[in-house]
Amino acid sequence: MTTDRPTDKTILITGGAGFIGSHLSTALVDDNDIRVLDSLTTGSRENVPTGATLIEGDLRDEDALARATDGVDLIFHEAALVSVQGSVEAPLTSHEINVDATLDVLEAARNEDARVVLASSAAIYGHPEQVPITETDPKSPTSPYGLDKLTIDHYAHQYHDLYDLETVALRYFNAYGPGQVAGDYSGVISVFIDQALSDEEITVYGEGDQTRDFVYIDDIVRANQKAATTDAVGDAYNIGTGESVTIRELAELIQEITDTDSDIVHMDARTGDIEHSEANISKAQNQLDYEPTVSLREGLEQTVTWYRSQRD
Ligand code: UDP
Repeated sequence: MTTDRPTDKTILITGGAGFIGSHLSTALVDDNDIRVLDSLTTGSRENVPTGATLIEGDLRDEDALARATDGVDLIFHEAALVSVQGSVEAPLTSHEINVDATLDVLEAARNEDARVVLASSAAIYGHPEQVPITETDPKSPTSPYGLDKLTIDHYAHQYHDLYDLETVALRYFNAYGPGQVAGDYSGVISVFIDQALSDEEITVYGEGDQTRDFVYIDDIVRANQKAATTDAVGDAYNIGTGESVTIRELAELIQEITDTDSDIVHMDARTGDIEHSEANISKAQNQLDYEPTVSLREGLEQTVTWYRSQRD
């Protein structure tokens, strides 16, 4: 029998000042001793909840990682260079941060005999042959980022098989929610909400027939909590909602929720854009007891409220 979430543990959250890591830190800080390792390059100090200990440092910094992992029971490894475009421009840097540093985290976990829950990605599948995508479907990532995530997803599995380390890889589909800051390479939802609230045109790339499975941050956090306590370790799970929308529908929904005057405009399609993405989440439902609970409309409403509060 597994419990729903970790309690009374010493937990390291790498990237704990970033979007997903900070939500996780906040959810766990009351019942656990939380350490956050974050370089604050994209994350921010204000995101780290009161009661958590921030170790400001790069994953590649051996001393910082040693201090952060000393005596831990559990590691959530969320720190990464998340930009697909950035990885295309600088594949070596992407590899260093996303692969080499993850190996350092896995080695540290091996020393401490700590469980590792690690952020993988739907990017490992590349252009899927069919949707919904199941975990055993072909993997052909189309960017260094996707390849790096596939590599660490495999390493997580291998560390379990070779060294009996408790690892779980979570393959996030399109995560969104409060705290995801709009920027050049951030997710489409943050971009569209930012445009709508600024009365700028909402820029749909191509016809907008492409589809994505958008999963709200609270569901991502719950998936991590389940992964931290499950007996079904040494495995990888799709974390999405099992439903998808077209980008055009998404733009219209954001138009409606924000009540904006912004028009939807169509731009050139993005080169190499994935056409359809949707998770088959049966494995996570069956083995992790994971169940998405937040509808897209509800999640978007919460996200828009947060964006508005940032503007006041
Ligand atoms: N997208 C768009 N307009 C934008 C940003 C993104 O139409 O301003 C589309 C993009 O072409 C893709 C989808 O939204 O089809 C999701 O893009 P994102 O970069 O958020 O995630 P990914 O493509 O990695 O799933």
